[in-house]
Amino acid sequence: MRDYKQVKKTVIENELSSITCNKCGNTHTFHGEFHEKVWQDDKFQSFDFNFGYGSKFDEENWKFDLCEDCLEELVESFVHKPEGYKK
Ligand SMILES: [Zn+2]
Repeated sequence: MRDYKQVKKTVIENELSSITCNKCGNTHTFHGEFHEKVWQDDKFQSFDFNFGYGSKFDEENWKFDLCEDCLEELVESFVHKPEGYKK
């Protein structure tokens, strides 16, 4: 048999405080409550690539963020635009 007592604990979590575009260096610092930060987060997109064995970038993992302007510039350079792109 086990008895438990209630203990108040302090939890430390990582909270997103800013995002910097890897391409142009534009930084957005977040203010406000969590739901407001999520909304502001929509102005950046995160990318996470894993390259497989034998790839030119053999087993590397790339992570970066792009602001909407840099993402649009990148997509505009594509010969074939992504599905869903409406410009
Ligand atoms: Zn940018």
